[in-house]
Parts: sequence; C-alpha cells; structure tokens
Amino acid sequence: MSQILIVEDEPRIAAFIAKGLRSAGFTTLVEPSGEAAVSLALTEPVDLVVLDVGLPDIDGFEVLARLRGQGSAVPVIMLTARSSVADRVTGLQSGADDYMPKPFAFEELLARIQVRLRPDSGSDQPMVLAHGDLSLDLRTRRASVAGRSVDLTAREFTLAEMFLRNPGMVLSREQLLSGAWGYDFDPGSNVVDVYVRYLRRKLGADYFETVRGMGYRLS
Ligand code: CA
Repeated sequence: MSQILIVEDEPRIAAFIAKGLRSAGFTTLVEPSGEAAVSLALTEPVDLVVLDVGLPDIDGFEVLARLRGQGSAVPVIMLTARSSVADRVTGLQSGADDYMPKPFAFEELLARIQVRLRPDSGSDQPMVLAHGDLSLDLRTRRASVAGRSVDLTAREFTLAEMFLRNPGMVLSREQLLSGAWGYDFDPGSNVVDVYVRYLRRKLGADYFETVRGMGYRLS
C-alpha cells in the first residue's frame, strides 16, 4: 500500500484530498508546515508527495528544492493556486514531476498520482493507450482520433482510459461510476450514460457500444 504525504495548510483541501486517497486505498500523512514536511518526507516511508505552493513557513518550491538537495527522488505533484506559467516553470526547475492547478477534480489528481506510482513508470509501462484510430497519452492527458487532437475533460479522459484499458470487455455502469467518479456518487445516477454520449460525440460513435442490460464495451 502506498503512502502519500499531503503538504497543505488549508484544512478543508487537505481533508478533501486525504479522504479521497484513503477511499482509493492509499494511506496518508497530512502536514501543514513546509519545514516539517521536509523532515517527514526524508524520514517516513513516503511514496509520493502532494505539495501545495502556498504554505505558512517556507513555500512549496523551497520544500521541493530541499528534498532534491537532500537526494530525495520521491515523486512530487505540486498544487498551484493558479495555472500560472511562472509557477510551472519554477516548479519544473526545482524538479516537480507534475502539477495540479487549483481548483481541481479529485479524479484528475488521483489519475496523476496513479501514473506516477505505476511500477516502472516511463520504462515498461505504456504511456500511450491505443485502440483503432483512438489514442490516449497518459502523461499529457491528451486524446487523439486518427492523429487529430481532441479536448477531453478530466472526467471524460478517466472514463475513456477505463475503456481503453479493457478493450472488448463489458464494463458495467457501476464499474464505470466507481472508477471515474469515486466514492460518494449516487449509484442510481445516469451520469455514466451522459458521459458515454460525450465520448461518442468527441471520439466517434462506433467505439462505445451499448450492451443491453449490462453496460458498455469498447469495440
Ligand atoms: Ca496553501
């Protein structure tokens, strides 16, 4: 089981992330102080750090710089208050692995965490899923059809990813709902059907086949 260190001084956001990650099977540590987070990440078994930029003592960039300075290669996903180009550049230079501009959908953060934690990420694991003309780049979270780039929302991407990971298999509404929407979603909701319609419209109607009484299948 992977342990995630959440460095965030805003209790509401820290609790939102921690609750979601625990539901997804992770253990979590929450630390509001940058200084304390550096010591925690260096002494505790931490598999990944979710790091806010704005902290009460040293900021997230300084936390990251100290971790890398101490030789820690732990994956770090930074939470930036805005999708600021300057913040991204600074973060990249300090060695962040990824970014999440606030506010964000939990599933998108989860997807980014899972990509970073996948064993041998970047070597053996495919970073692009393809089926027919359809392809999903898991690093950039971009979709394309026959080489043409298509904009998908985070949720649509997560749903499409579930289909491309299970080509030809029937996925039930319940499986799709729990996979793409997570813990506290009403199982009676028709949101899966709505989003499959979005995917058909954006990626091609023929890919997402309805299997009556069972769910959907990528064909
Ligand atoms: Ca903050």
